[in-house]
Amino acid sequence: MSKTEFELTDSVTYVKGVGPRRAKELEKLNIFTKYDLLTHYPRTYEDQRYITPIARATVDEQGIFVGTLSNIDLRETSRLKIITAILTDETASIQVIWFNQQYLMKLLHSGTRIMIIGKVKFDSWSGVLSINQINSFSILEPGEKVTLGIKPVYPATAALNQSFFRTAIQNLLDAMPPVKEILPAPIIKKLNLMPLDIAIRQIHFPANAEILKQARRRLAFDELFLIQCGLMLIKRQNTVEQLGISCKKNGELVQKVFESLPFKLTGDQLKTFETVAQDMENPQPMRRLIQGDVGSGKTVVAMLALVKAVENGYQGAFMAPTEILAAQHFNTFTKMLENFGIRIGLLSAKVTTSKKSRAEIYNKIANHEFDIVIGTHALIQDEVKFKNLGLVITDEQHRFGVTQRAKLGRKAEVVPDMIVMTATPIPRTMTLTVYGDLEVSLIKQMPPGRKPIKTSVKTVRSRKKVYEFVREEILSGRQAYVVCPLIERSEYESLHYIDPATEIFAMLSNGIFKDIPCALIHGKIKPAEKDEIMSRFHGGEIKLLVSTTVIEVGVDVPNATVMVIENAERFGLSQLHQLRGRVGRGSEKSYCILISNSKEGAAKARLDLMESTSNGFELAEEDLKIRGPGQFFGEAQHGLPDLKVANIFRDVETLLEARDAAENFVTSENDLNYFASLRKNLALAYGEKFSQINQA
Ligand code: ADP
Ligand code: MG
Repeated sequence: MSKTEFELTDSVTYVKGVGPRRAKELEKLNIFTKYDLLTHYPRTYEDQRYITPIARATVDEQGIFVGTLSNIDLRETSRLKIITAILTDETASIQVIWFNQQYLMKLLHSGTRIMIIGKVKFDSWSGVLSINQINSFSILEPGEKVTLGIKPVYPATAALNQSFFRTAIQNLLDAMPPVKEILPAPIIKKLNLMPLDIAIRQIHFPANAEILKQARRRLAFDELFLIQCGLMLIKRQNTVEQLGISCKKNGELVQKVFESLPFKLTGDQLKTFETVAQDMENPQPMRRLIQGDVGSGKTVVAMLALVKAVENGYQGAFMAPTEILAAQHFNTFTKMLENFGIRIGLLSAKVTTSKKSRAEIYNKIANHEFDIVIGTHALIQDEVKFKNLGLVITDEQHRFGVTQRAKLGRKAEVVPDMIVMTATPIPRTMTLTVYGDLEVSLIKQMPPGRKPIKTSVKTVRSRKKVYEFVREEILSGRQAYVVCPLIERSEYESLHYIDPATEIFAMLSNGIFKDIPCALIHGKIKPAEKDEIMSRFHGGEIKLLVSTTVIEVGVDVPNATVMVIENAERFGLSQLHQLRGRVGRGSEKSYCILISNSKEGAAKARLDLMESTSNGFELAEEDLKIRGPGQFFGEAQHGLPDLKVANIFRDVETLLEARDAAENFVTSENDLNYFASLRKNLALAYGEKFSQINQA
């Protein structure tokens, strides 16, 4: 196929070397256009600059070897088909082994010259040195020279190998006219960034390590800068272009509720509420993130804000991530606000199981018969219509995707105020990326009188002792949690060592806690039953609660002072920290006991860290380092934009540069046309993800 104009949006079939069959394969990697192929960046690189003489082959090290084959042989065992051959260069010979690639017998002959990249192994059984972990190899034509350099390694498939990608991308780069610069010249100059055209070419085929580093920095900067500009634009839209509602100064209702609180607010709580109140009085829509470690008392701040909305004649919505939590907030709010004539509704899967009760609740929401509605995801269904929604609060936001947050906001005629609350101590760089459009309030202080939680790590051997201790605590009036990673015994053999909640429950309730009211709670238990168990635990009737992580977020039972976590190595640090936050909520001394038999170094290090610090931020940073953002935030829900080059943990410096540059750029009086083209670039690069951000 030929085509005169080169467009990055052209189908990838216009690239030399990509026919219809391969194009179909590329689709599996989400590559449809030239642009997609161009930004199919290397996963890593192979340093193929130096050939290793066979005489210098080193055990357990990778080398590039070039030589001639002889003694090619195929052996078959019951499970393996093994090809062995001898590779010889000017210095020595070495054995080469291929596993289960018998088709190579047709291609390899005595006298064939090959280049092979692989690891050298010493087989103590046969006493032979061999190259048997082969990364790649190629057959050299007679007289062919070996090309050396830094080679890209692409995410590939069974049907599309490295040499396909290397050739196709090289062809694409050869045909591509110089890429136009997208960044404003002053930014490039100030930050000394590599020109875009060079960066795009060099990231695929870098001349050397330093140039590669610069190319990566430039492309990472672009991604981060575009996102930051996007976030700044959203912020600007909020503050300049949109008009929200404007509340009066705090009046009698807020004052009365405030005075009825059973405790004095901490300085941070007070300051946060004052800021929130001010935001609400402002005609611009409030967009605020309240960040505070578990137990720091975010709920009461949210409640006061909701009361303020109600005082001004609006409805408020409070969205929680789980049924248990929604029910808990509903109970707390009802207790504290009923006397003031504030009407509170609960919308969750349980109360809406029957069509009739659901319709009734929807009606009451639509007719403003509820002032505050608390609920789970059920709140963002299309059928839910508010009459006069003025404030939307989402609790434990990281559980919700960015889109969900946006959807609730769109439920109102006017633009409602919005608060996002999170207990996950998100590192600052992450906050800037995920919540860059929000103002941030921090609640750092803990309510007074909290005693630190004593954390200790024990092995299964000490289990009996641990539960004897738990029993003593219960007999002296306290309550306890036992958390297990699984509900039932896994069918997978590799997970057999995990003692599941059902079995731990049976063991405890039939054994040492026979005479003590125990309950089991997990995700497979019906919502109604779950609620009942939780309220009996809340009321102090149930003393010991065995559960899975359903109790992870937000559950608040101040009398519970002990938490035992079984198979603690199965949880990430942030999760352990969240779990631990369920105890230590009252004035009694609290304990968290982590049971684990894991000898694995990383797992042990994690648990030891839990023992030594209770600082959520510290733990979160560690956790991110260990697990990466995806797992940290729980799969697809993390709300992070899809970055191809940048890594917001590794590229912190670039992120801050991008943030800075974007801040100056968007606030200075720049031509709106430029924003339009930025938006286009952003959409091209990040597709749907950006349109989501854009709506938030
Ligand atoms: P989180 O920030 O984790 O959501 P909560 O709002 O659930 O924390 O508060 C944890 C506990 O602390 C609750 O029992 C709450 O009533 C209590 N609490 C909140 N603020 C204060 C305060 N200023 N003084 C004493 N107790 C408080
Ligand atoms: Mg909470």
